[in-house]
Amino acid sequence: MLPLETARTYVLDRCKAPKPVRVPVADALGLVTASEIIASESIPQFANTAMDGFAVRSADVTDAPCELRVVETIPAGHAPRVTVGPGEASRIMTGATIPPGADAVVMVERTEVISAPSADPEVVRVEVSVPADNHVRPVGDDLHAGDNVFPAGTELTAGRLGVLCSLGMTDVEVFGRPRVGVMSTGDELVDDGSPLQPGQIRDSNRRTLLALAHRADVTPIDLGLVPDDPAEIEAALRTGVETCDAIVTSGGVSMGDFDYVKAVLDRIGDMRWMQVAIKPAKPLAFGTVGDVPVFGLPGNPVSSMVSFELFARPGLRSMMGHREPIRLTNLAFAAEDLPRRPDGKTHFMRVLATPVGGRIEVRSAGGQGSHMLWAMAKSNALAVVPDGTGIHADDKVDVLLLD
Ligand code: AMP
Ligand code: MG
Repeated sequence: MLPLETARTYVLDRCKAPKPVRVPVADALGLVTASEIIASESIPQFANTAMDGFAVRSADVTDAPCELRVVETIPAGHAPRVTVGPGEASRIMTGATIPPGADAVVMVERTEVISAPSADPEVVRVEVSVPADNHVRPVGDDLHAGDNVFPAGTELTAGRLGVLCSLGMTDVEVFGRPRVGVMSTGDELVDDGSPLQPGQIRDSNRRTLLALAHRADVTPIDLGLVPDDPAEIEAALRTGVETCDAIVTSGGVSMGDFDYVKAVLDRIGDMRWMQVAIKPAKPLAFGTVGDVPVFGLPGNPVSSMVSFELFARPGLRSMMGHREPIRLTNLAFAAEDLPRRPDGKTHFMRVLATPVGGRIEVRSAGGQGSHMLWAMAKSNALAVVPDGTGIHADDKVDVLLLD
């Protein structure tokens, strides 16, 4: 059996990011920058107020309380037209430009208009003295033109997309979003909700793997349900290779008589068949057809999910340009015994992780069989239980917190 890290390194070595592409910022969520982003302009581009209030000359209010004549009202989005002279102030709204002459803002809560409503000019009473620059956001307070905003290899999160927009960028150079074809294989599978004939089961893996692909930020492509027939499997794989950047199959990679996925991939691809020292998901087929990576995942529903998490997800995220494609492990504590038998493998137990008193506690999510999808679906984490007899209550355990 291969250690997990050996198998995963083999996979990652063959999942390289493709050439950079330019995509609209609107389509870039979750993608990874392929070149560094340099600020073409400063943010903010003009000194503006952080508060609703009055723009004043700080020297005028050193002996506050004092009274100032209001010479202008400046809404956000409108340039000031009047210079604030001695004894004057301009009413100003958050985000509006500081008018010439003024060097500070007094928040509206520290002021009171004391003139009659129709008075011209109005008179405002300022209750407090403020230093120069009070509530003023200077040019470049957030970032300056020429700043290196994000290095290449940065994942574009919600906030980072906002930064690109605030810099006026409408497109961005990234590594493309891989199209990932997903197919189920097996004569026993039914996917149309019809009554089951003897021996049939319903295809759950395809929906699950398509959803996992979506959550991994790639574009999932449904390659359908393929029977245990070498010609049909080959046709589906060839379609996948032509239309996708990577392929994920489930089923047909074990030692059974009708595991034709294995035979076909051996013929048309450059595959490696691995027995990984993990449970579930010991068998893994990985290789390339042409230059398209193919992940041959085991058919058992829990195995296919765990295999996706441990191999396909890191491989696909590596193809997206992520430099740390493997999910981080978190430290948790067992809220109950997590027993297992020694077998030379690392077990990935389905657990429910909950925050308790500032730490993560885990308990079993239910049956640990590789066919027990319900327990997997109730879990939100995989506990990494090393070879041995298991983890005792209150002991530390590493966990992978799943999406
Ligand atoms: P296999 O890897 O093809 O030998 O399949 C292993 C087990 O997983 C068998 O019990 C299959 O019926 C089951 N299985 C395979 N593919 C799927 C699928 N798409 N959905 C649900 N169960 C599956
Ligand atoms: Mg099968």
